[in-house]
Amino acid sequence: GEIDPTQRAWIEVSGKAIESNVRQLRSKLKNNCEFMAVVKADGYGHDAKVVSEKAIKGGASQLGVATLKEGIKLRSFGINAPILVLGNLYTKKDLLICFRNDLMPTISTFRECLICNNIGKSNNLKFSLHLKVDTGMSRLGFECDQFVQQFNNIKSLENIAVKGIYSHLACADEKNALNPKSSTQLQKEKFQELLKIIDIDNTQNIKIHLANSAGMVLGKDFHFDMVRVGLSMYGYDPSVNINENLFLKPALFLKAKVTFVRTIEKGIGVSYGNKFVSDRKTKLAVLSIGYADGIIRNLSGKISLIHNKRLYPQVGSITMDQMMVDITDSNDIEVGSTMLLLGSEGDKSISPIDWADKCNSIPWEILCSFKNRLPRVQV
Ligand code: PLP
Repeated sequence: GEIDPTQRAWIEVSGKAIESNVRQLRSKLKNNCEFMAVVKADGYGHDAKVVSEKAIKGGASQLGVATLKEGIKLRSFGINAPILVLGNLYTKKDLLICFRNDLMPTISTFRECLICNNIGKSNNLKFSLHLKVDTGMSRLGFECDQFVQQFNNIKSLENIAVKGIYSHLACADEKNALNPKSSTQLQKEKFQELLKIIDIDNTQNIKIHLANSAGMVLGKDFHFDMVRVGLSMYGYDPSVNINENLFLKPALFLKAKVTFVRTIEKGIGVSYGNKFVSDRKTKLAVLSIGYADGIIRNLSGKISLIHNKRLYPQVGSITMDQMMVDITDSNDIEVGSTMLLLGSEGDKSISPIDWADKCNSIPWEILCSFKNRLPRVQV
């Protein structure tokens, strides 16, 4: 992809990194375990089209989105892999739109099953869907007991095709997740028990799935028939648990141009509130990127940027559209130079995990905060 020369700040997305991450992650899976690439929120801010295409190239067989619109958008790009809507669709209208766009809904109630069955019946087809059970997240899903009681009724509905049964882990990224008594292990056991009780027809090829990125590394007993992977596919390992031989490549590079350079004397305040005061004669670069682009203002004065494999501290409050960087020690940064906010260059690397640690956030939130004012460019 070409970078518009008028561009002040942008996100480069490495399709190769996504593809390679998916390949690597897949190589760790149990035999015949499928890989669902989670591409909700515009592919965690990376551009869902690019991510979906590269993930499929890397071996992902299904895609997960949060909303109907996200799914419809992927279909409009000609993507024909199975797509699961992870959010809840509860109206007849939304479920009908879901059906018409060949998207699979996540179903959490018998009432929703009946709606889907009616839609299937009126079209003389089976409506494909995934059933969700709650094993400890208390978000979507049937309660386990309820599910066991109602499963036979669900099975008897002739115009739905249950393509999956799944649950979601709440604490898989915590240190104790490998502990046999942890809530994560208990969630898995609860799920396994439920699967044992219900009478699943093996000829129907129903995919059982539980693990997210952090769940995947806990062991093959978490893999079932499919894993739903987001963060680690984008190149960031969310797990505090050992993740041997995984060489994930961050796919996102956040860059901004230097639009102005100035030198200030010692003792001069910088940016709103003058919260930074120079303690020496200081050369400043002004970058054309700010919190209106999604850079969290709370990161002011806490981050560094990379140029030519060297780190430079950001100073003063991050403003709506601009920020200042201390480039006193540089002799190769000038107006028009490009600086790297996230990504790696040589042995220097800054990730959304680093940013999240500095502003009490999580890497998922950092990635989803970037606004559309930052064009996404595939590299
Ligand atoms: N499955 C569900 C239901 C999700 O909501 C998400 C995202 O939060 C994922 C899987 C992927 O999670 P992760 O990005 O941690 O791999």
